[in-house]
Amino acid sequence: MQEGWEVFASDKPDVDSSWKDYDFILLDYSMPKRTGLDVLKALKEQDVNVPVIFLTGHGNEIIASEAIKQGAFDYVVKDTQLLYLERLPNVLREAKSKYELIETNRFLIQELRRANERLQTESYTDEMTGIHNYRFMRRQIEVEIQRAIRYEKPMSLCLIDIDHFKDINDRFGHPAGDLVLKELARILKDATRTVDYVGRYAGDEFLILFPNTELGAAVRLAERIRSMVADHPFVSEGQTIHVSLCVGVTDFDPKKRNTSESLIVAADKCLYQAKKDGRNRVHSKLRLISSESNKRDAAASAQQA
Ligand SMILES: [Mg+2]
Repeated sequence: MQEGWEVFASDKPDVDSSWKDYDFILLDYSMPKRTGLDVLKALKEQDVNVPVIFLTGHGNEIIASEAIKQGAFDYVVKDTQLLYLERLPNVLREAKSKYELIETNRFLIQELRRANERLQTESYTDEMTGIHNYRFMRRQIEVEIQRAIRYEKPMSLCLIDIDHFKDINDRFGHPAGDLVLKELARILKDATRTVDYVGRYAGDEFLILFPNTELGAAVRLAERIRSMVADHPFVSEGQTIHVSLCVGVTDFDPKKRNTSESLIVAADKCLYQAKKDGRNRVHSKLRLISSESNKRDAAASAQQA
């Protein structure tokens, strides 16, 4: 053929993966053993993504449109004087540049999609620990609050703080501090269920969101995490670092219509109490309420006395 095209003709009815190596496939509808539409189907099945130019006789435009529907790139109507052969190089040239443009677009769209996904993941991930960041957690807490309201389900939240983290940095160095943060993040992920959300709040503080979980169950999970970490040796450059945690646990209160901020504030109050009581402990909303009412009772009876 003219114009530097190299042409390979085949009368084999079966498609194989070597068909992928061609720039174009010219496919006739009328063939001895199977129709061009059969071959089109076979190409799709074999994952041969080479553009197909379909050749069809006069009056067979319905077949041509069917071929386009089934994935042919373009079609050429044959005539008995074989004039279509002269048109063919032009058709191929146009099809080639159109196809290349489509492929380039497809590639660019894919790249854009990947870049967007990367950006989305990055904007919701804590760089150092690889768990969710605060931005993600705050958004997810709001989502779970809406779910809790709509389905009248419980949800709990805990705020975790490493005891004396500054001392760890001062004594063992910042790389050791970073190691503790990363390893703790991993422990928290391993200790929670796949439905829970683990994120870094700030510095040495972490958040765990327990959807569809009563306060009591969340406290038990928090207690298990606290004791696991207390028993876990963090090893940095041959030195063993002992880490303990304070955890504040609270739950969603439908009467108060909590927001993500108010829930975190409530968990932080419990956390503060845990620190005040001597660290390495879990404090929950329930204990806070009961200890506050105990204090009130004590004050009241002191006044009465
Ligand atoms: Mg701390």
